Amino acid sequence: MSKNILGLHHITAIAGSAQQNYGFYTNTLGLRLVKKTVNFDDPGTYHLYYGDERGSAGTILTFFPWDGIGPGRAGVGMATEIGYSVPAGSLDFWKERFAAHNVRFGELNSRFDEQLLTFEDHDGLAMSLIVPKPDDQRLAWETAEIKRDTATKGFHSTTLSLQRIDETAKILTDLFGYTLQGQEGNRYRFVTDAVDNAAIVDLLEIPDGQAGRNAAGTNHHVAFRVKNEEVQMEMRELIRSKGLQITPQIDRDYFFSLYFREPGGVLFEIATENPGFTADEPLAELGSQLMLPKQHAHLREDLEKTLPKLG
Ligand code: ZN
Repeated sequence: MSKNILGLHHITAIAGSAQQNYGFYTNTLGLRLVKKTVNFDDPGTYHLYYGDERGSAGTILTFFPWDGIGPGRAGVGMATEIGYSVPAGSLDFWKERFAAHNVRFGELNSRFDEQLLTFEDHDGLAMSLIVPKPDDQRLAWETAEIKRDTATKGFHSTTLSLQRIDETAKILTDLFGYTLQGQEGNRYRFVTDAVDNAAIVDLLEIPDGQAGRNAAGTNHHVAFRVKNEEVQMEMRELIRSKGLQITPQIDRDYFFSLYFREPGGVLFEIATENPGFTADEPLAELGSQLMLPKQHAHLREDLEKTLPKLG
């Protein structure tokens, strides 16, 4: 049971302009656009997926861009920071790059004895680059300007802000197989040993914190990874047995999903590794074409006219 959750699968956030979002994540941060599709629940808008070469679980950051939506407010009941793992010695490169690209970033800092650099995307989404101990062995996606000695390797962690951490901590420990690794001030670090990377969830306890409001620059949900649909449905029963409401299984074309709101207010998803992003495009061409789920395939002609051009 405790090895059923394999760390983070993906994190989904809300953006304003799709073009700005595409420019920031592919150029400034150097991720690969691994899928260009539409929001299955609102097919007039994009759903953009960025990750490593194949969009491996634990590297995928996805966005719903809604032009003109305006800024949200990060707060309790949501994920408030996304941590990317980077190679040792790369943070000076990133400081220079962020300065040159007018990216807002903080001072070099450390957390749980690991170096980190906080920064924000153009919508104000809070992120950090972290040098993990031990080294992260994942193979990074390279671009012309960002080579393997500096490139991000996928998620290191995410931080959830909560009024009280107890009930959320119980989900992580009792259902997901995480253990409390340490505490720094009001930050509690939970880690699973089921995977080597994307294995950390930090809970930040802010008793008088204001609730977050979802719009541009905020996270929408955090997805945890399971091997396949069989494990997923076992997890569903386990979550239901704790008295929590959870959706039926939903086919997202690139993975199968379940959603539930954990007691601290954060929307959690359980997503399968299968079938992955090569389900409808070859590896070399991921992200190059607008891919539509079959229920929205008839909208292609309109969507190709109305969706903003990227790149
Ligand atoms: Zn999701």
